Amino acid sequence: MIGIVIVSHSRRLAEGVRELALQMVQGHVPIAVAAGIDDPVNPLGTDAMQVYEAIASVYSDDGVLVLMDLGSALMSAEMALEFLPSEHQQHIHLCAAPLVEGAITAVVAAASTNDIQRVITEAQGALVAKATQLGLDDSHLSLVMSEEPIINDKGHTSQISLAVSNRFGLHARPAAQFVSCAARFQSQIQVRNVTKGSDFVRADSINQVAMLGVRQGDEIVITATGPDADVALAALQTLITTNFGEDNTPPPTPRRDESRLYITPHSPHTPSTSLQGIPASPGVAIAPCFRYRQTPISWGQTTSIEQLPHYHVDNTHQEWQRLQSALYTAQQEIQTLLSHSSIQIGDAEAAIFDAHLLFLADPTLLEAAQQRIFTQHLNSEAVWQGVINEVASNYHRLDDPYLQERIADVVDVGQRVLRVLSGTPMTIVDVSQPGILVAADLTPSDTASLDPTSVLGICITAGSATSHTAILARSLGIPAIVGLPPEILQLTDGTQLAIDGETGRVWVEPEAEVLVALRTKRDAQHATQQQAITIAHQPGMTRDRHQINVFANVSSINDTQQAVNLGAEGVGLLRTEFLYLNRPTAPTEEQQLEVYQAIAQILDHRPLIIRTLDVGGDKSIPYLGVGLEANPFLGWRGIRFCLDRPEVLKTQLRAILRASFRQQIKIMFPMIATVDEIQAAKAILAEVQGELRQAGVPFDEAMQIGIMIEVPSAVTIAEQLAREVDFFSIGTNDLSQYIMAADRTNPKVANLADALHPAVLRMIQQTVEAGHAAGIWVGLCGEIAADPLAAPILLGLGLDEVSLNPQAIPAFKGAIAQLTMPQAQAIVTAALQQDSAAKVREIVNYDLHLI
Ligand code: PEP
Ligand code: MG
Repeated sequence: MIGIVIVSHSRRLAEGVRELALQMVQGHVPIAVAAGIDDPVNPLGTDAMQVYEAIASVYSDDGVLVLMDLGSALMSAEMALEFLPSEHQQHIHLCAAPLVEGAITAVVAAASTNDIQRVITEAQGALVAKATQLGLDDSHLSLVMSEEPIINDKGHTSQISLAVSNRFGLHARPAAQFVSCAARFQSQIQVRNVTKGSDFVRADSINQVAMLGVRQGDEIVITATGPDADVALAALQTLITTNFGEDNTPPPTPRRDESRLYITPHSPHTPSTSLQGIPASPGVAIAPCFRYRQTPISWGQTTSIEQLPHYHVDNTHQEWQRLQSALYTAQQEIQTLLSHSSIQIGDAEAAIFDAHLLFLADPTLLEAAQQRIFTQHLNSEAVWQGVINEVASNYHRLDDPYLQERIADVVDVGQRVLRVLSGTPMTIVDVSQPGILVAADLTPSDTASLDPTSVLGICITAGSATSHTAILARSLGIPAIVGLPPEILQLTDGTQLAIDGETGRVWVEPEAEVLVALRTKRDAQHATQQQAITIAHQPGMTRDRHQINVFANVSSINDTQQAVNLGAEGVGLLRTEFLYLNRPTAPTEEQQLEVYQAIAQILDHRPLIIRTLDVGGDKSIPYLGVGLEANPFLGWRGIRFCLDRPEVLKTQLRAILRASFRQQIKIMFPMIATVDEIQAAKAILAEVQGELRQAGVPFDEAMQIGIMIEVPSAVTIAEQLAREVDFFSIGTNDLSQYIMAADRTNPKVANLADALHPAVLRMIQQTVEAGHAAGIWVGLCGEIAADPLAAPILLGLGLDEVSLNPQAIPAFKGAIAQLTMPQAQAIVTAALQQDSAAKVREIVNYDLHLI
């Protein structure tokens, strides 16, 4: 992210400007201050060393913009540049913009783009708003607008040509990975689809890349011009040749099956009361329907989107800032949805929202919007709607059904921004009683927030089986039919419906005979599921009767119920940070107690491991003030934050302790890297226990205390840490990223951060051995446990417990039931000798076929 440095003679002035600017973006952009000098008598002045330190504190290769007041501030800034390594100097820009207006404008711009040239242009045009308001000639508007994209002509042009081999080509998620990767480099990168004979388009524009319509087997050419051209091309090439980390085998997609519809003996045949749509997510649902309508965007007096406000703006600069701040809010909302979805339905499906984020940052779209505001003096709503309509109709024109479906995503993101601009609150799908949702359309954002316990089925007139809405419905396990005739929208709420998501058929007020047939089908499906679940309800046991505890990772009361239904023998990781999300202040002790007690009650004396707040890294909770960090995963997160903010930790510990009374609750501290940290955490715990005892509040005095082993230092000192605690739980999500030095959120290095890499497996082995030598139990709660190929390895490594995504529990138990311990140990011995994660997978696959 672009950093901003404010250089001033007066510390108070600089701090004030910083405070003003931060308010605009709610602390989102790194801003450092270098102001005043260390002289109590005359504190006014500037110091080059301070400027250097300020630059270093916000530096990233995206660039740093330095704004100065006057005189020696410029000289100090110039001198500071000389202290920087030459490869960093080129990323530092001393900006001629006025200090106050320039800083505020630059910060707002930096919140929405990583394009330093755009931020400079914005800052330099900062006086235009004032000039316009004062009725001065605004001929220098040309300063604000850059007609042509600024081409970085430093460095050379390189080119590669290659075939795209992943299953769907550059569809939404790979296109998002491609664009994020390209946007990280300074070079200007362009790409064209040779097979379709297209022209070159900008590789940092999600829409332009998606519209190339690149499919499996198409040949593309990528060019890069700039200082890092070759590195950029190598990174893009790796992304493409590794198929964007996708598995190329096709998943089972529900298909319209005419024979099942009309020929099978169970098939109901009532054409007069049934409607046919496209099957999108399998399953039978029988329930009353309810019509879902998005809250219309309210534009003051009018309430219809057709009456979108359209007016002339004088202060174009302010209008552009208004649009940018709406884009920023929309971006924050999508980020929250992304975090929520990756927990509820998994990272792969949630990545749909990565594409939404990139859409909001698409430079071609933003440049078009900016251009129109400044040249046509139009309001943000009209401009934004116009730009979105154009993108949507460009997708419409393409002769590619897959790309046509992306229109739903474009409209979803577009509407979100319009809603923010209008101040209309988000629509919540609030279902008073379980039913089948009927709608003209459902955006991917709406679908991701549905609760499968109250939305039993989905019927929509728009969409297709490969739309993101359909994908999300399948992940949530909600039967869904799309592409239904519009008659379905005429039904009154409460009308009884029966739907079969496998065939795409909907029956309105179904007759008895239909209900019998569908119930039979539903019961048969349930019976098959139940069979798998019955096995899952047996203890996790190998063929030779070695037992391993199979627990679940959860983050809500609903997850816990689902985990128990799917055979979880306890909760191995309750991610409590989700209690802190989507709210303006931290949850109180009572609010937390209520949730912990509800979860413990569902578990009915099965073990519950509550992890204390793991904020930081990729989990941002604005009101806790973790702030922006250059390397958040290496920064102030987990236990580091909690030890510095003991009041937050103590509230949580009190709630956990109170909930532990007569329950099987254990506490787990995340991110422990040193013995001091666990001792400090235990001291705070002891303090809280003392307070509760004194107040006569009961809690479990014998409660076990554990830590996550997810930092490499913890592995190497595991025998020292084991003396302090009752158990370890290995967090391979973080452990892998730290061992392999590969950010877990960066798709470019996703292949490196693989927990099946022998480097990680050896660390797991070392931890298990150290824990067992000290007489404590060792579990594992990273996502790797949900990978079917990991089961024999985790078993063979001697773990006492694994905790995984509830959906994966039946498969895990099924897998270990086929194995004996000696077989699993032999697989581990071979795996530890491999030199890559891919080879580990190969040998597990091979060995499992032999067994
Ligand atoms: C881990 O790091 O493996 C883990 C389970 O914790 P989280 O994914 O919440 O960081
Ligand atoms: Mg972790």
